[in-house]
Amino acid sequence: MRIMITGGAGFLGSHICEFLLGKGHQVVCMDNLVTGSLDNIRHLFGKERFLFVKQDVTQFIHLPGRIDAVMHFASPASPVDYLKYPIPTLKVGSLGTHKTLGFAKEKKALFMLASTSEVYGDPLTSPQRESYWGNVNPIGPRGVYDEAKRFAEAMTFAYHRSHGIPVRIVRIFNTYGPRMRLNDGRAVPNFVTQALAKRPITVYGDGSQTRSLCYVDDLVAGIYSLLLSDIDRPVNIGNPEELTLLELAKLVKELTRSPSRIVYKPLPVDDPKVRCPDITLAKKALRWRPRITLRTGLAKTIPYFRAALKKPGRP
Ligand code: UDP
Repeated sequence: MRIMITGGAGFLGSHICEFLLGKGHQVVCMDNLVTGSLDNIRHLFGKERFLFVKQDVTQFIHLPGRIDAVMHFASPASPVDYLKYPIPTLKVGSLGTHKTLGFAKEKKALFMLASTSEVYGDPLTSPQRESYWGNVNPIGPRGVYDEAKRFAEAMTFAYHRSHGIPVRIVRIFNTYGPRMRLNDGRAVPNFVTQALAKRPITVYGDGSQTRSLCYVDDLVAGIYSLLLSDIDRPVNIGNPEELTLLELAKLVKELTRSPSRIVYKPLPVDDPKVRCPDITLAKKALRWRPRITLRTGLAKTIPYFRAALKKPGRP
């Protein structure tokens, strides 16, 4: 296939570009480089089947030639980023989804939306199944991301219903791995860089909130299975291995053999208290499940951060 991916220079997008090239596909990677980085895809530039296009996907998209699938993965994705870029976050989820859907329709391509566990907001039920409608504060600081993605799902489904375009919607839960930005503000990069630098590890709130972390390779395999499937409903992809943030901080401290102490900082507004995917649908319909445990995944990720910390100027 010839696949266009927006946000292809981001953490997740760059892993997807690599994976698709490995499967023999042609990849057009589109990114405006606001939170993405050429450092993530530089190693792909020499490849014949890879093309990079610098574009803001909230603007009209034109590309010559055939496109078989459009994967819309562009968006600031860490809370720190979308608090810094609230309007671009809303625009890429709304206008950007509209433009990429219009482009997919024009090319008669399959459309995949990167949605998120944030559509469930601060969930009142756990684990979260796809049938749960969520608990989101529309005007809270996180609302810019959550509502943009909820709108994006609605728009994707409206194009499916009205124009009959084939769609896939992946609800992505917390993911980690190499190429996360050191300063993206999320728990894994913060904890690992703090532990490696022997600085205090900052746990927000009392650390009793939970998350369920999926290693990026598992996530990408799940996304690819969904792309090739015929399921047009949203599907959760994530690792249900749930733990508290305090447990995560202690695990990072242990794996890095760090002397850092754990300190407590205020909990961000609307920070979800629990998050855990119910992956029954993915297991049944895609025959996919995550295989990499948190310990193994962190052990693969820590060396990346160790090396990145030594590179001056690398965010
Ligand atoms: N968190 C924390 N310390 C940090 C960064 C994040 O305790 O230095 C907490 C944050 O409050 C949240 C959880 O870790 O409860 C996961 O946050 P992250 O930003 O990774 O992603 P989220 O799941 O909130 O989108």
